[in-house]
Amino acid sequence: MLGPPGSGKGTQGQILSSRLGIPKIATGDILRTAMKAGTPLGLQAKSHYDAGKLVPDTLVLELIKSELAKPEAQQGAIFDGFPRTAAQAELVEKTLTARGQRLTHVLLLDVPEEELVKRLHGRAIQEGRADDTPEAIRTRLVTYHKDTAPLVAYYGQRGVVHRVPGVGTVEEIAEEIKRILGR
Ligand code: ADP
Repeated sequence: MLGPPGSGKGTQGQILSSRLGIPKIATGDILRTAMKAGTPLGLQAKSHYDAGKLVPDTLVLELIKSELAKPEAQQGAIFDGFPRTAAQAELVEKTLTARGQRLTHVLLLDVPEEELVKRLHGRAIQEGRADDTPEAIRTRLVTYHKDTAPLVAYYGQRGVVHRVPGVGTVEEIAEEIKRILGR
């Protein structure tokens, strides 16, 4: 699942995970759990996370490697929130190739910027995530365009990117994803 913050990656990834019966790996969720538990990873991630910046690749690469190595991910998985940088994309590529697997679909959730801002501020009121302050929201959107959006061209060259209009009801968007995947 690829797309800016607030585009619905988590929601659609969860629906897809249940429907296909394969796990969803979400780096953001794992980091929130680590911060709550106060593990070394959580402590090191916190200042970056709270500011809406990416957690350094040095921390995230280990995390991704260990998630991909888990038995439940051997039959396939839905990646939510990673890869988010070129270095992460390279690690994913290397790890999957070594196992004879590959990334088959990149679902790019397309949502206009003003709608994203509206959703993120709405969610801030409901969920109160530490990175939902107006300033952190701005930083997350800028970071997406700078560090993550270039991955669209990277995966586009391989013909695996599918643009999904991310505006509509949750069900409509899930239907569109079903149509794209052909299952
Ligand atoms: P959103 O897409 O709304 O920003 P996420 O839960 O995916 O929500 O990410 C929240 C934050 O967690 C990011 O701003 C970043 O600090 C951290 N994070 C999540 N995934 C990654 C990743 N792959 N690399 C670096 N930082 C990450």
